[in-house]
Amino acid sequence: MLLRLACRRLGCPHTTWRHVFTPARTLVTPPRPVVLPPRFFRAGLAAGGVLTASLVLGNVWGTLHADAPAREAEKASERPQKSLSSLVRSYVVYSICSVPTLVDWAPTILATLTAIPGVKQVTEAIVRVTFFNQFVGGDTAEDCIPLLEQLRVEGKGSLFAYSVEVDEAEAAGGSKEHAAAAKENVRQTIQETLHCIDVAATFEDAHASDAVTMRGRKTWVAIKLTAMVPRAETLHHFSQYLITTRPSSSPAILFPGQPHPSDLEVLSSREVPKAPLTQEDITDLAQLRDDLRAICKKAQERGVRIIMDAEYTWYQPAVDAFLLSLQREFNALPRRSWFGKSSTAVTVQPVIYQTYQAYLRRTPEYLKQSIAAARAGGYALGAKLVRGAYHPHELAAHASSASASAPPGTSVEGFGDASGLSISPDPEPPVWLTKADTDACYNACAAVLLDDVSKDVRREVSSVGVLFGTHNWKSVDDILERMEKLGLAKRIGGVDGPLYVPDEVAERIALGQLYGMTDALSDSIVERTRSSSPFLLKYIPYGALSEVMPYLSRRAIENKSVLGNGAAIDERKRAAELIWKKLFG
Ligand SMILES: Cc1cc2nc3c(=O)[nH]c(=O)nc-3n(C[C@H](O)[C@H](O)[C@H](O)COP(=O)(O)OP(=O)(O)OC[C@H]3O[C@@H](n4cnc5c(N)ncnc54)[C@H](O)[C@@H]3O)c2cc1C
Repeated sequence: MLLRLACRRLGCPHTTWRHVFTPARTLVTPPRPVVLPPRFFRAGLAAGGVLTASLVLGNVWGTLHADAPAREAEKASERPQKSLSSLVRSYVVYSICSVPTLVDWAPTILATLTAIPGVKQVTEAIVRVTFFNQFVGGDTAEDCIPLLEQLRVEGKGSLFAYSVEVDEAEAAGGSKEHAAAAKENVRQTIQETLHCIDVAATFEDAHASDAVTMRGRKTWVAIKLTAMVPRAETLHHFSQYLITTRPSSSPAILFPGQPHPSDLEVLSSREVPKAPLTQEDITDLAQLRDDLRAICKKAQERGVRIIMDAEYTWYQPAVDAFLLSLQREFNALPRRSWFGKSSTAVTVQPVIYQTYQAYLRRTPEYLKQSIAAARAGGYALGAKLVRGAYHPHELAAHASSASASAPPGTSVEGFGDASGLSISPDPEPPVWLTKADTDACYNACAAVLLDDVSKDVRREVSSVGVLFGTHNWKSVDDILERMEKLGLAKRIGGVDGPLYVPDEVAERIALGQLYGMTDALSDSIVERTRSSSPFLLKYIPYGALSEVMPYLSRRAIENKSVLGNGAAIDERKRAAELIWKKLFG
């Protein structure tokens, strides 16, 4: 009752427990219910309630008053006002995110509390009104439509994603007992992704200005390969197979290497697959290829761009292989006929984007060769540039495989045992060891991509499309500055005026941040630019609460790197200032 009241007070739109898809996903190991005697149950309930409530409320209200006046002097925004409930929620969430130890322990605390009947419901209800509503768009694609509308009013587009994530322990250990349910879950993920494309397209049909060329459409769909196979170890096996069999490029690219057009040939071969690939893997990978083609076909027909997320390096060779094949097919550029007209209809291009992680040492050379391969192959390159989300996991996995003296079970909080995951043949880890190296790599790759766009803008159809995914102010400043320098954006209304981004550039470049994170940066990008369609996209995951729990845990840990160095405190102060203004004018 209290909970329901609290939900109502906070304006929570999700007071029912809807599970539209399957009740349990086997990609994510369901926590085993712990049966406790009533005495333990009551104690657990009390402890869980107190712990979660203190996580949420502790240290929050005491600092609200102190934080509020600090930023009052800043310029008032002309954007639609945020509701008091969403500001309070942001304040609570960022207060928690500014305590690193709490964040480290978040996945363990969540897993423990949700394994205790009774406490589970309380925990989930609290997670829903805090982290879920902060970082997730809703339980279903339709639930997200009001949010898409609100973002569009604020001048923002969306990168929409049905978010389910793989459990690494299961990937490494290979649980077979849930095989049938896992297959069923994958079928539902594919159906949901197709549905998500329809929802995105229908939303754009109502908003995009040019129905003939389908340009200016800024509701895109993100997908993740590990959610589309019944066993993530299939991608692990395929990656191992690829790095030992595919031809290398010149100059050679560091692990996880580069894809080759022949990578998927093994799926049609009649030969017995080479270990560690099994016949079951081949069957699942062939199904994955068909599913991905169906998704891309629908996206192409409905004018929705598909952005494939990058994952751990032990899956990345497989991810790259599918991406190359899809880009060659669906990003194929129209050939010019003898009469100067394009031989295929103009639609959004590129349809498929792949993700480049700047924390990987391979990325500068890989990006360079990807651009050259796309030009030579006559297809558009779709590139999302991010820093990379799995840095501690990559280091842990490498350490546990590279060193025989490393203690078994090298682990990262919320990740579990990392041994047996890395497939890198190199003595060095695949990621840079310092943040400064990753930053330098990100900025250098951003410059390469912008230079490429600058060469491309006069073409009728884009042969390159870039999404810069970052919460880093400096990187965003550098990108905007370089766009101006290259003539991709023009300053209007004097030196302090906004940058005008013409249609042919807005068709090729976008910036993105995760929903619920660094809104100040997103708002600043919108204020600093002008374009006829959104230049800024928010990445909006959706899914039933139990399904997106792993996403939320990961977000909490990622927040530690994004919101370190005082950034979480800044976010908290920003929320406090807005709450103060709302309450006291
Ligand atoms: C729209 C969008 C889409 C995304 N999609 C993906 C995706 O598909 N795959 C994916 O992996 N991530 C993805 N991310 C997350 C992204 O990779 C980063 O984890 C996150 O954005 C933080 O980086 P930053 O540039 O925003 O901020 P910053 O705070 O400037 O950078 C933090 C990042 O720096 C790097 N770093 C931190 N410490 C070190 C160190 N000691 N040595 C080397 N590098 C270090 C890490 O990559 C860390 O995440 C996405 C992010 C956005 C905004």
